[in-house]
Amino acid sequence: MINVTKTFLPPLEEYNNILLRAWDKQWITNRGELVLELEAKLKAYLSVNNIIITNNGTVPLQIALKLLGNGGEIITTPFSYVATTAAIVWENCTPVFVDIHPEYLTIDETKIEVAITSKTTAILATHVFGNPCNLEAIEVIAKKHNLKVIYDAAHAFGVMYQNNSIFKFGDISTCSFHATKLFHTGEGGAMFANDEFLQHQLYYSHNFGHDGPLAFHGLGINGKMSELQAAMGLSILPYMETIVLERKKIIDYYNQKLDFSKLRTLKIRENTLWNYGYYPVIFNNEQELLTVEHALNEQQIFPRRYFYPSLNTIEYAKGKVMPISEKIASAILCLPLFVGLSESEIELICGIINRNVC
Ligand SMILES: *Cc1c(COP(=O)(O)O)cnc(C)c1O
Repeated sequence: MINVTKTFLPPLEEYNNILLRAWDKQWITNRGELVLELEAKLKAYLSVNNIIITNNGTVPLQIALKLLGNGGEIITTPFSYVATTAAIVWENCTPVFVDIHPEYLTIDETKIEVAITSKTTAILATHVFGNPCNLEAIEVIAKKHNLKVIYDAAHAFGVMYQNNSIFKFGDISTCSFHATKLFHTGEGGAMFANDEFLQHQLYYSHNFGHDGPLAFHGLGINGKMSELQAAMGLSILPYMETIVLERKKIIDYYNQKLDFSKLRTLKIRENTLWNYGYYPVIFNNEQELLTVEHALNEQQIFPRRYFYPSLNTIEYAKGKVMPISEKIASAILCLPLFVGLSESEIELICGIINRNVC
């Protein structure tokens, strides 16, 4: 069976050796030495000057919206994982969808301004599949209208834009270290801010608001990563460069073998050092996608419909029609992509796809 992804696991011995340090100290959470070490190593790996690692990639979105959304309207993308929209509604803000660019698949910045009202407080956009949003244009719009910018960078671990970490853009960026993501800690995530005051707010927000054991800076929640999660991250981090290279090879091979006269893949934004996190293919229509999916499933190959449905169509989101996002969401499939996927498996997948599209 070939799934869309296969979680990279380090040699068990290496994970155990790191866990032993938690056993020795008998300290398994509350920002122990493994969490602190992982934060330090991630700062260096990602070239950022601040990071707070968290228990998953959703709580950082909720914290960001709590701090910057202010219960207002949030301009957002309909083409993302459901967590992006759900976090907005969960934090009692209102999602206002703006359609996506048909090739980059990120929010279409040229359609943002007409969606802004007096109730708009922030923009929450996703660097979908690790492809950067139009960072410059969004910054200009946000400044002009006095809006905050939050980036759901769940897919963007290690992505660089114009030689800068993608996590340095916007007021707050969030990442996910879920087991299906490029770098993982089983469950986990991170958040980043540029402004020092905001960094401080993120920090206390993820630990119940604590200012020492007896006092509080303000409202908080529990977003802390445990030592057990950090041990997983520390044992995987040394493999990241190899993982990314292996995935690049797989993507290069897909690019060689697929028939692009009949289908297309993601267009990566200019000046981007991408992370090879996903391999989406876009068919002509949903019927074609279903035919291909069925043919692949028959060979025990299970791609995933990332991202379906378009989030504006979810009942609680009460969104307007988004023609481009709805069309793409109905016709996009992410192909298997993980370390260990062989050339013959890629040939099998591409053969099935090429035969079933017209
Ligand atoms: C995975 C994901 C999240 C949520 O991350 P978790 O770590 O699973 O909580 C949020 N947004 C996007 C776009 C994602 O793909």
